[in-house]
Amino acid sequence: MTLPPTRRVIGPVARAGERTARPRVSFEFFPPKTPAMEETLWQAITRLAPLDPAFVSVTYGAGGSTRERTHRTVKRILDETSLKPAAHLTCVGASREEVDEVIREYWETGVRHIVSLRGDPPPSEGGIGGVYVPRADGYANATELTKAIRGISPFEVLVGVYPEKHPESPSIEHDIDVLKQKVDAGATLGISQFFFDLDVFLRYVDKVRAAGITIPIVPGIMPVTNFNGLKKMSAACGTGIPGWLANLFEGLDDDAETRRLIACSVATEMCAKLQEQGFEDFHFYTLNRADLVYAICRVLGVRENPTAATEAAA
Ligand SMILES: Cc1cc2nc3c(=O)[nH]c(=O)nc-3n(C[C@H](O)[C@H](O)[C@H](O)COP(=O)(O)OP(=O)(O)OC[C@H]3O[C@@H](n4cnc5c(N)ncnc54)[C@H](O)[C@@H]3O)c2cc1C
Repeated sequence: MTLPPTRRVIGPVARAGERTARPRVSFEFFPPKTPAMEETLWQAITRLAPLDPAFVSVTYGAGGSTRERTHRTVKRILDETSLKPAAHLTCVGASREEVDEVIREYWETGVRHIVSLRGDPPPSEGGIGGVYVPRADGYANATELTKAIRGISPFEVLVGVYPEKHPESPSIEHDIDVLKQKVDAGATLGISQFFFDLDVFLRYVDKVRAAGITIPIVPGIMPVTNFNGLKKMSAACGTGIPGWLANLFEGLDDDAETRRLIACSVATEMCAKLQEQGFEDFHFYTLNRADLVYAICRVLGVRENPTAATEAAA
């Protein structure tokens, strides 16, 4: 078939390859439990650091030992790289004084970004999807925590946003009111829960803007390699799984390699389409693996910054 010279048939990925603007990316990691997991995490950090992310975030668990692991990981990132760590912090299972102490320690060690979250009930109280009961002497929600963080030091405070509404919220409008409270308390950026329906995300951002909220809303991108695991996680956190996504993974339970290729393709197309809608910031849920995220970043136009590479390796 010969096309007339004026007609070009290219998709969002090819168009992304023609762009010259460099998007900003950030990466989420979780604190490792074992020396082997620590090794995997640092391989991922070493591979992704040269892409010069705006920040890298480290998640926070409910129990004492998982908290220590978050602090240790954040400290190691500060000590051994030039990356900006964003420490996740929740209100769960701690008094206001205990949380304030953690905030002060972060500032003293050089942390300047905190992801301020309420957190989910600990597993002993039903885990994700369980009924959240705030401690009488603790912070009740992310708004209170955000206010406390900003009252202690001028951190950049990032908060969670939910394109498909938080599972406990009665409506998306209520959720956006809560986001407004978080912004009034000092939040400077919203990171979205992962999603797969672009229309849902774009409609959500329109509503956020219509409510007068101007902070950046950064799409949270989850490259899906474990579809069965995703189904459980999505059910708990209220993310819809479109039929087309289920179809793509159908029959691939024993074929991890094909699942990975599909995951990369789906996430890349989502990001490239979001770029076409004007989004220039992307937050990746890396699950401590670098390769898929690295490939997606390449398509989006993110390239190594030689200085960042040297500093990360130093
Ligand atoms: C980007 C991102 C990162 C995350 N990282 C972690 C992590 O590291 N560790 C972890 O444990 N969890 C993490 N989570 C999950 C998060 O803790 C849960 O989604 C939790 O259930 C809600 O946290 P939040 O900060 O959004 O809460 P909030 O914004 O406080 O909202 C929680 C619920 O309470 C309602 N609410 C809040 N304020 C009010 C009010 N004034 N009046 C009435 N209702 C109100 C909201 O509508 C919502 O339903 C993360 C989520 C996201 C999106």
